Amino acid sequence: MDFTLSPEHEDLRLRVRAFIEEHVLPLESDPENFSDYENIPPERLAPVRAKARKAGLWAPQSPREFGGMQLPIIAWAAVYEEAARSVFGPLAINCMAPDDGNMNLLARAGTPAQKEWFLRPLVEGKVRSAFAMTEPHPGSGSDPGMMLTRAEKKGDRYIVRGRKWFITGADGAAHFILIARTSDEPRRGLTGFLYHKDQPGWRIARRIPIMGPEEHGGHCEIEYDGLEIPAENVLLNEGDGLRVTQIRLGPARLTHCMRWLGWAKRCMEIAQEYVGRREAFGSKLAERENVQVKLGEVAHQIQIGRLLTMHAAWKLDQGSRARKEISMAKIQVADTLHQAADVAIQVNGARGYSKDTILEWIYRAARAARLVDGASEVHKMVLSRFMREEGRDFWRWG
Ligand SMILES: Cc1cc2nc3c(=O)[nH]c(=O)nc-3n(C[C@H](O)[C@H](O)[C@H](O)COP(=O)(O)OP(=O)(O)OC[C@H]3O[C@@H](n4cnc5c(N)ncnc54)[C@H](O)[C@@H]3O)c2cc1C
Repeated sequence: MDFTLSPEHEDLRLRVRAFIEEHVLPLESDPENFSDYENIPPERLAPVRAKARKAGLWAPQSPREFGGMQLPIIAWAAVYEEAARSVFGPLAINCMAPDDGNMNLLARAGTPAQKEWFLRPLVEGKVRSAFAMTEPHPGSGSDPGMMLTRAEKKGDRYIVRGRKWFITGADGAAHFILIARTSDEPRRGLTGFLYHKDQPGWRIARRIPIMGPEEHGGHCEIEYDGLEIPAENVLLNEGDGLRVTQIRLGPARLTHCMRWLGWAKRCMEIAQEYVGRREAFGSKLAERENVQVKLGEVAHQIQIGRLLTMHAAWKLDQGSRARKEISMAKIQVADTLHQAADVAIQVNGARGYSKDTILEWIYRAARAARLVDGASEVHKMVLSRFMREEGRDFWRWG
């Protein structure tokens, strides 16, 4: 068992670290760099993306033939975490959600034609994308089996009717991945589709205001009223929708963890800096045992999250679906991010609650971590199922 990164991946990690320090972190201190989505406006992102591409730090998760770095997933873990020292970092090197998950899905499940049409411009950073699965009550949320949006086959096309919501980045996205019902079979009732924004028969019903900062394009409710999708834009085959979601959501949950670990470490960095200089009652805050215990506890939780994330990444690289490992990482890291932001705000006093630091941005973003891509309770349910099936082998090595 060897936890060292290869010299090549370690060098890459350090290059990402230096790039973020020099070109991305300084952008956070200018309020003009936060749009009404509380994210970096596209015209301000473009120059830093150009620098990232020139530095060879671009789309670590995507195939080389389309312009990415095609790293193994253990190297994603190191690179994403470094990139997410800044809240703009993952966008700067084109590994932010939801695009990174969509690129990864297309790379694994797309036909050559689908990859050329949908994947290439995404990797090149020319378009944004969205993944549309969740529906308002009584449709599918935690339980995809409740999906109501239907795609009915007519000749060589599918006609889609229904409603989705909380679709990240939908406003302004060019490429959409849609999961819809094509039959009532329990395991093979869903199908994945690709469509382009200019195809008629769908509209954004509203942008849903949320408590946290947003990806560009916000979180939208979408209405489908006769969207026509040609059969060649089915992902895999009709009835493979659950497989499509598994291919997308497993790694996407883990890349959330990789970014969240970067943000959690940043919270600790801001906390350390303040308690190291701030004095109260005759000593530095850093010298107070209570402060040390708080920060030590977060450091320990972050490391647990890193180990779970790296283990799941390694399993994915071995060809496993790593379902339980990803669930464990997601539960742990979502909680840790929240705890890291909360503790950092607390030890920073009023400053922590202000917008003078990035802590409040991260704190609001952190609250979504326990909900998105499967609520923590659902991941715990999955673990409990595995434990019932596998008994004591649940904890096997390898
Ligand atoms: C910021 C944000 C971005 C999102 N982006 C996207 C996106 O791009 N595309 C997309 O398709 N969806 C997106 N979603 C939706 C997200 O994936 C769903 O919110 C999530 O899957 C939970 O579904 P739900 O909201 O319908 O919760 P529900 O299914 O209504 O569940 C509500 C709560 O019930 C509890 N619960 C559910 N099942 C169980 C159980 N078995 N045992 C115990 N408790 C349980 C959990 O606490 C859960 O939070 C986004 C959501 C947010 C908040």
